[in-house]
Amino acid sequence: MRINQKSYDLGAAKSSIREIAAYAAKRREEIGAQNVFDFSIGNPSVPAPDAVYDSIKQTIALPPTQVHGYTPAAGLPAVKEALAASLRRRFGEQAARAQDLYITCGAAASLSITLHAVINPGDEVVVITPYFPEYRVWIEHAGATCVEVPSCKDDFQIDTVALRNALTERTKVVIVNSPNNPVGIIYSQENLAKTAAVLQEGSEHFGTDIVLLADEPYREISYGTDVPWIPSLYANTVVCYSYSKSLSLPGERVGWVLVPPTNPFNEQLVFAIAGSGRALGFVCAPALFQRVIADCVDEPSNVAAYDRNRRALMDGLQNLGYTFVEPQGAFYLWLKALEPDAEAFFERCRAHEVLPVPSNSFGCTGWVRLGYCVSYQTIVTSMDAWAAIMREYQHEQL
Ligand code: PLP
Repeated sequence: MRINQKSYDLGAAKSSIREIAAYAAKRREEIGAQNVFDFSIGNPSVPAPDAVYDSIKQTIALPPTQVHGYTPAAGLPAVKEALAASLRRRFGEQAARAQDLYITCGAAASLSITLHAVINPGDEVVVITPYFPEYRVWIEHAGATCVEVPSCKDDFQIDTVALRNALTERTKVVIVNSPNNPVGIIYSQENLAKTAAVLQEGSEHFGTDIVLLADEPYREISYGTDVPWIPSLYANTVVCYSYSKSLSLPGERVGWVLVPPTNPFNEQLVFAIAGSGRALGFVCAPALFQRVIADCVDEPSNVAAYDRNRRALMDGLQNLGYTFVEPQGAFYLWLKALEPDAEAFFERCRAHEVLPVPSNSFGCTGWVRLGYCVSYQTIVTSMDAWAAIMREYQHEQL
């Protein structure tokens, strides 16, 4: 049968993060969960807040058509009202109206929809490396070329000079992910303001309208650093959000796309997003969870639990002599590999049942990502293995 070769190739070439997570599951069965230190996948380790369970109980008592029936393609109007009101409380009167929101099946759908809504054949989409690997899949599926721009070497903020040099008349979108997966940093107000100026200049220079796609599933998970609201810095921004991380609901597939009313192309974009959601089949996100997120719209994330893990991991690794980027947000720690080849370092870790993700998956070499959305116990008990890995490298240098 002549199937779509690109789809076949994507299905056959597994995501390396998922492959490591599957390997970890196999090892847990073989040697016991307590002996496997799985830092691979970003699956929240803290349960959803009680408010989520309360809302689920109340919602399933509603008439079945309200819980299990179709909703409007873009989501229930009352839910969108609640979400928009919350955004206005947090980011100002200009932040959102109900009609600017399209409720989706998580950030993956939000990004796919947005990219399909704006990309024409031959366009380019800029990503800042290291970056979440699915970006390339979604960008290429939408018909664009993925252009990688390395972040600053010292602090992993956006390198605005490199960004300026990468812009062309074909640049349609720049994806900005903060708090960042995989590095765990948050782009500063100053860095984002410079980025906005570069995109503005680029748009004027090339006579184009570059969209800034703000991918923000980790917005709520910050350890004290401010997460700037990007639409107030750059007008042509589209925000993609998800409850996968903030409310620990990755399996429920719910999030949204926002075209702020201040975006000069608001009406065009809102229609194009509705159209690409329709074309891709991302219509009426799960009705039960639409209602749940409306009930839990101001529910805080359990940042304290991740912060405890973060501190334990940083303290432990620091004491052993490892080098890493101090995470400001999300739940990932970016660790310098003990040799230039991150895959080789990963294999050393694997021999000690420690499973990070090598940085090659994120578009660069020499680092690994540790997802510390695991139990506190896993972090504490992994330290002997981290010590053994360090000792191996130290002995080789003697
Ligand atoms: N964007 C980033 C940066 C992510 O880390 C993830 C998931 O890990 C996604 C998007 C997709 O999120 P979702 O599970 O809501 O589709």
